[in-house]
Amino acid sequence: MVVEKRKPIPIKEAIERIVKQDIYTQQNNISLEDSLGYVLAEDIVATYDIPRFNKSPYDGFAIRSEDSAGAFSKNRKTFKVIDHIGAGTVSHKTVEENEAVRIMTGAQIPEGADAVVMFEQTVENGDTFTIRKPFEENENVSLKGEETKTGDIVLKKGQVINPGAIAVLATYGYTEVPVFLKPSIAVIATGSELLNVDEELQPGKIRNSNGPMIQALADKMRLTIEPYSIQQDDLESSIQVITKAMKDHDIVITTGGVSVGDYDFLPKIYKAIQAEVLFNKIAMRPGSVTTVAVANKTYLFGLSGNPSACFTGFELFVKPAVQHMMQAKAVYPQVVKATLMEDFAKANPFTRFIRATASFTHNCATVVPSGFNKSGAVVAIAHSNAMIMLPGGTRGFKAGHTVDVILTESNVFEEELSL
Ligand code: AMP
Ligand code: MG
Repeated sequence: MVVEKRKPIPIKEAIERIVKQDIYTQQNNISLEDSLGYVLAEDIVATYDIPRFNKSPYDGFAIRSEDSAGAFSKNRKTFKVIDHIGAGTVSHKTVEENEAVRIMTGAQIPEGADAVVMFEQTVENGDTFTIRKPFEENENVSLKGEETKTGDIVLKKGQVINPGAIAVLATYGYTEVPVFLKPSIAVIATGSELLNVDEELQPGKIRNSNGPMIQALADKMRLTIEPYSIQQDDLESSIQVITKAMKDHDIVITTGGVSVGDYDFLPKIYKAIQAEVLFNKIAMRPGSVTTVAVANKTYLFGLSGNPSACFTGFELFVKPAVQHMMQAKAVYPQVVKATLMEDFAKANPFTRFIRATASFTHNCATVVPSGFNKSGAVVAIAHSNAMIMLPGGTRGFKAGHTVDVILTESNVFEEELSL
């Protein structure tokens, strides 16, 4: 049998081919409390100013600034308190000469007043108080519209809804939020050597760790997946299962079987279902055989069975596809710089991704490979919060070199209180 020669493409090209596809999820409204992690489908426009009215940022007294002119320690100015309001109440009085309204944080500045004196700046005596410094117009006043004006775009279409966006949506009264729906995802672990997590080990068999790992990666993105039963390396039944999964889901992720082994059936399956293969070889390690195809507006991700390659493939290819389908503005993995803390002598013609531990102690980003790091490694994934991305070439890398890093988790393994 002649093995089909695959032509490796650069990672960048692979990601571009994925996000160029005309495959999108539908728009719909969902409730505010469920909207975290969704992508906004419309611009959100301010329907009123924030603040909505001039308000007090402190507990104190609202006065007319002109009445404070000339105040100093030997010439204290006296004010008479004519009303008392907390946040949420409005004074119906107008502040006249040398008058003041006792006002709490968040309350509307009363008619006539244009400055707020903090309690700490006064000496109180019954229903009067004195001050020893002049106040300017609008001093200690949060002005109407100083943050946002009516008509401003406060959230942009394509933004992923984060807790701050939830606060903005709540501010403007959105109980329902227009979003692009999340894709539905099937995950199929393929391999006749695979056992379920609860099964006893048998000779030649291993437990399916990729399935639960992908489930967890999807959970972190608040995506719902349908985990399929383990699929044996069998062409006919694999075609059936994948065809069914494609009908029911927007994305079908398989692990294993994408290489050129005798029982690697994914290439044949893509052919059989007439999928358009976007690429089947990438100039990267691990996971060079990772294959992405599309058929009937469904993405098919053929991730490698090797756990580290499978993890890397999800981070590099599945995530951008999901963000693209939801029309997020930002879809690409973000690369930061860090100092490599250990030699990595082995040169490779392909870009190498190494599961790694990034730290930010002493306000400086450092990164170190997280242990045994071959493509089949599992344990190193658990000790990683980042992937080092070493460009392909003829040289190795030395401790102290600045390298590119993709952060995969926000938690760290080593810390100091560096606030
Ligand atoms: P494959 O991509 O099918 O050639 O598999 C590559 C390697 O990954 C083999 O050693 C498989 O046994 C292993 N492997 C495949 N699928 C899984 C899985 N779901 N969980 C853990 N290891 C796997
Ligand atoms: Mg296999």
